[in-house]
Amino acid sequence: MDTNKSQPRCCEVCGSTHFHLARFAEYDVFSNGGYRLLSNESYEAVVCLCGRARSTRKLLPRNAVDKSFQASQNAAQRRYEQMAPDEVRARLEQAFVTRSEFERLCQQMTSLEMALRQVSQRDGKQT
Ligand SMILES: [Zn+2]
Repeated sequence: MDTNKSQPRCCEVCGSTHFHLARFAEYDVFSNGGYRLLSNESYEAVVCLCGRARSTRKLLPRNAVDKSFQASQNAAQRRYEQMAPDEVRARLEQAFVTRSEFERLCQQMTSLEMALRQVSQRDGKQT
């Protein structure tokens, strides 16, 4: 995280200048309900209206607890980026054909069926 005071104070994701000050700590959260605090170490972070959280202090990569918090921030950022509309659209475009592609493929299939039928009829007449 950049703590350079000359950098803009707005959210680098959405540009908002409004944040919520929150305190984060590491927990085990159980699927059947309940939670357990894993560490007494907590982090103050500003959370933007868009959901992006930034630590209010510089995280040191060699500090294991800082590294853990940074990993959580990075995981949240990757999830945010995956759920961005442009990313979702790009993934869908890779997985599915468009209507125009589908119609073109249907036309090709029809042409191939007609060609196959003609060949079959011609071969049938020769024998
Ligand atoms: Zn934001």
